[in-house]
Amino acid sequence: MTAWSASIITLFPEMFPGPLGLSLAGEGLKRGLWHIEAHDLRAFGRGRHRAVDDTPAGGGAGMVLRADVVADAIDAHWPADDPRPRLLLSPRGAPLTQAMVRQWAIGPGVALLCGRFEGVDERVIAARRLTEISLGDYVLSGGEIAALALIDACVRLVPGIMGASASGDDESFEGGLLEYPHFTRPVAFEGMTIPEVLRSGDHGRIARWRRAESERITRERRPDLLNPAKVERP
Ligand code: SAH
Repeated sequence: MTAWSASIITLFPEMFPGPLGLSLAGEGLKRGLWHIEAHDLRAFGRGRHRAVDDTPAGGGAGMVLRADVVADAIDAHWPADDPRPRLLLSPRGAPLTQAMVRQWAIGPGVALLCGRFEGVDERVIAARRLTEISLGDYVLSGGEIAALALIDACVRLVPGIMGASASGDDESFEGGLLEYPHFTRPVAFEGMTIPEVLRSGDHGRIARWRRAESERITRERRPDLLNPAKVERP
């Protein structure tokens, strides 16, 4: 089987792998456990100045990435039979969830288009069947940082990158709850000690305490996660 791979179309290919070239993701990249390729949208620009954008139809501020330029880049780099999901990073998209990340991490990889300026001509989003994915309810200046976050979340689940620690089902969002609190040495820190139960060696008690803490923290901080009607699906 070929390794998990991310293909990115962007005006700033030099932003990749960026931080993903370091730490565990970076080690995995060097060991060939996953691949990344960033393609320059500018190469498909029109005219002497390789223009990739133009003014919005109907007027208004800013510039819009041209449909024909984006389509050419997609057709050159993402073959029609490419099994990877084609995603457009966009504040209008479905919010990225751990469930989506899990699904993409066990697949062949992801194909990501990074928007810039005001965004992308609507027709190419439809014509190339791009699925819009958002990092959250705020506006970034481009899709690149969102793409890095999405890839990071996927890659840490790719087998061999993080060992067992990322696959455990006690992490935040796995099982629909936020994670319980962690403690390590020293036992006493600025007058606060590690909860006695965690030093008891009683694994059953520890598991029950952690579960209760997960539920308490989720109830306090993210009650929306406890409402089954709101459980997000990929
Ligand atoms: N005018 C747009 C925002 C454009 S921001 C609007 O109001 O919806 C420029 C680019 O940054 C977008 O095309 C997108 O690729 C990226 N971007 C901005 N915010 C994002 C977010 N929350 N999630 C994912 N990508 C985002």
